[in-house]
Amino acid sequence: MAKINLLSPRLANQIAAGEVVERPASVVKELLENSLDAGATQLDIDIEQGGMRRIKIRDNGSGIDKDDLPLALSRHATSKITTLDDLEAVTTLGFRGEALASISSVSRLLLTSQSEMATEAWRVEAEGKDMGTVVRPASHPQGTTIEVRDLFFNTPARRKFLRTEKTEFNHLEEVVKRLALSRYDVGFRLGHNGKQIYDLRPVSDQLHAEQRLATLLGSKFIENALTVDVEAAGLRLWGWIGLPTYSRSQADLQYFFVNGRVVRDKLVAHAVRQAYRDVLYNGRHPTFVLYLELDPGTVDVNVHPTKHEVRFRDGRLVHDFLFSRIHKVLADVRPEDTSPPTG
Ligand code: ADP
Ligand code: MG
Repeated sequence: MAKINLLSPRLANQIAAGEVVERPASVVKELLENSLDAGATQLDIDIEQGGMRRIKIRDNGSGIDKDDLPLALSRHATSKITTLDDLEAVTTLGFRGEALASISSVSRLLLTSQSEMATEAWRVEAEGKDMGTVVRPASHPQGTTIEVRDLFFNTPARRKFLRTEKTEFNHLEEVVKRLALSRYDVGFRLGHNGKQIYDLRPVSDQLHAEQRLATLLGSKFIENALTVDVEAAGLRLWGWIGLPTYSRSQADLQYFFVNGRVVRDKLVAHAVRQAYRDVLYNGRHPTFVLYLELDPGTVDVNVHPTKHEVRFRDGRLVHDFLFSRIHKVLADVRPEDTSPPTG
């Protein structure tokens, strides 16, 4: 048997990176979530070669203090929670303090930031090495820019799993789409290889929210959707559900957010499927963009590192609420709306 050794910080981070950093899209998810947690209202995302060459995200959030810069890249360093009680009712998208440490251990990372109170900007660099970071003066307005180059340059086994530029970009675009659907009050500009993909302005009213939906999901969805907005027993459900006639052969237009976080959840999927059961043909999938809001203390988001899963304290209540409300909205549709469109 070999001797037991303590892992070096770099190796520990690279192992942790295996959990959260699967591909460029995962980097974009973590960085954008950080920007949103920092209160940013404008996000500029510039991508090169599907994110494999370069991911650059600039925000106008709170920024990071000079003294905190090296810590930001360290493992288990977070400004978002300090106690278990905080974790029980966490409202930020992040809290594990692992993303930047993980990402910087498998890429060339450049972080430039000016914090709210500061008069100057500072920059740290990490190149897949142990985090002996140097802080240098830089020029940047309030907020943060993070540039991630050459993802997996030092982990060839990971790099091998990357697909074509197009595939990686598609995954990445899906991540941006979900976040753009989660925060209408934030502007999102996305560019790929110097070409602008879209520039979504912050919006505050229904009409413009629906324009954003049309840009991201196609105008067909919004033309064939019913609005939902109901509240009961401390739960609020709002958003859009597709008419039964606008079903899909795949479950590829289904977005469900719990307290602003996109989730894929069996209980939710089941409740929606049941609600549509009588009005959808077998094998067809409903379309929806739905937002569930509830007391953060009644839902556990610390189930998986990517936080795509949640656990509801009262799953039965949530299931029945979703089922009954969606079922009712569908039942109220006049019959002429459920027959296939003519002409
Ligand atoms: P977590 O988000 O779980 O706290 P991260 O590794 O993603 O962990 O980030 C570490 C810390 O760095 C955050 O807690 C936050 O204080 C700071 N940080 C990261 N990105 C930004 C940003 N864009 N703006 C302001 N602060 C940031
Ligand atoms: Mg984070």
